[in-house]
Amino acid sequence: MARRKLRFLRSMRLIGAPLAASRMEAQLGIADTLKSIEDHLFPRFKMTIRERSLYYHFLRHTRLIGRESSLFAIDPLAKQLGLSHSSVRESIREMDQKGCIKIERTRQGHHIRVMLPDEIEGILPTDTAKEQVEIESLYFFSQRRYVNQLIARENGACFYCPRKIRPDNCELDHVIPTSLKGDNSSRNIVASCHQCNTSKQGRTGEEFLRLLYRDEALSQDDLRVRLHELEELHAGKRIPQLQKPLTLIRPPVVKG
Ligand SMILES: [Zn+2]
Repeated sequence: MARRKLRFLRSMRLIGAPLAASRMEAQLGIADTLKSIEDHLFPRFKMTIRERSLYYHFLRHTRLIGRESSLFAIDPLAKQLGLSHSSVRESIREMDQKGCIKIERTRQGHHIRVMLPDEIEGILPTDTAKEQVEIESLYFFSQRRYVNQLIARENGACFYCPRKIRPDNCELDHVIPTSLKGDNSSRNIVASCHQCNTSKQGRTGEEFLRLLYRDEALSQDDLRVRLHELEELHAGKRIPQLQKPLTLIRPPVVKG
């Protein structure tokens, strides 16, 4: 790889060691950086079209050619981008205040350093936020992979009745049955005891809770609390915590 290109890739933080990154990895790194700029940095700072073109211009003449910063004079810059002197000056000041560039003013002009998304705190989504997005799309029913997390969410009891449950004796239940187009997301899968799972049949969660109340398996307070939890579940307010490493539940060993 040519030395100049290597310098550029390093300055973009796209490669770690000279021999470690393949061309494709480097290209993916550039693509990721550009995506982060478009998806996170620009929207986060509510950057105008003018600020965006200036940002790309500065990027082109600094980080993309392996420089930490470069000298920019306002007049040639305005001319080159077809903007007025005052609008360029104002935009640069705005961008500096937002934190997407850093300016050092000298007699010759403005030394400008472009900040990449991962160099500015709070621009890239945190792991927790990413996890929250991913968790919404996870399938909670298959292979009982998240049974521990579901039981933890239900505080160790059946979602419908007060019976205590464990990973090896609980059932995963579709609150809205699949026959009524209920899905496999954490908004519709709960951990329940075997008895509730069996007697619920094709009923919705709400219908079943009201049936338990009529059968006096739930008090009026229990019913109220559970209906509220049901509402929160469907609204996505009861997302299980997946921070702990996932453990695969193995079937009990049969002796003999
Ligand atoms: Zn139950």
